[in-house]
Amino acid sequence: MAKSLKDIRCFLLDMDGTIYLGNSLLPGAKEFISLLTQRGLEYIFLTNNSSRDKGAYVEKLATMGITAQRDQVLTSGEATAIYLQTIKAGTKVFLLGTPALAREFAAHGLQLVTRDQCPDYVVVGFDTTLDYQKLWDACDLIREGTQYVATHPDINCPLEGGRYMPDAGSIIAFIEASTGRSPKVIGKPNREIVQAALTRIKAPRQEIAMVGDRLYTDIAMGINAGLNTVLVLSGESKEEDLANTQFAPDFVFKSVGELAEALNWG
Ligand SMILES: [Mg+2]
Repeated sequence: MAKSLKDIRCFLLDMDGTIYLGNSLLPGAKEFISLLTQRGLEYIFLTNNSSRDKGAYVEKLATMGITAQRDQVLTSGEATAIYLQTIKAGTKVFLLGTPALAREFAAHGLQLVTRDQCPDYVVVGFDTTLDYQKLWDACDLIREGTQYVATHPDINCPLEGGRYMPDAGSIIAFIEASTGRSPKVIGKPNREIVQAALTRIKAPRQEIAMVGDRLYTDIAMGINAGLNTVLVLSGESKEEDLANTQFAPDFVFKSVGELAEALNWG
């Protein structure tokens, strides 16, 4: 583990609740990213949302004044594509995912096939275009023994105004109710998404920090992957949550703005 923040050479950054809240940039976030750029430190934005591709996040960040290259955004969807390509190049996938996720898989050389084309894997993503026949086909394949992977485990995706969209975890629950099987999951809090990020990072693990606002996903993932962990209190977690968590972060700040100040002092 790094002894102090000044040993960190690379930051993995959660987005919602860490860099922005909904469509508003959090105070200090722009200064934080500028500082990383100025110091030549690496950073990659990580998201569990597999319904949109990295281009959508590059654009969203740009509208808020934050510059990110396409390789500086990693979704659980792309991490899943990288994971599958590592196991077997050109593997055949029956995908429950959006057109954006399908394009991402194809770009990584995976073959997207139908139920009749003997897929090697069923992959469940945050499929906002899902229909009953696809769910049924997925259940048949999984029951027949096809390997089964999911991009991320989130049950609901919170929206602004207090509404929720049923997320990939809800689709996983549907399939489990029918087949009794659960998938290997790539996204946070699992270490596989970090493994995918490491294919683009120069720094060794002990010089990488995961920064996020959720203990049970961001901090848990950092711990699972052997990274340094930084909790920011600008999103979901409150200071009192620290008393009862099994996922204790190495550092805690009110926001990435406060983290930037600490880096400046260090
Ligand atoms: Mg978050």
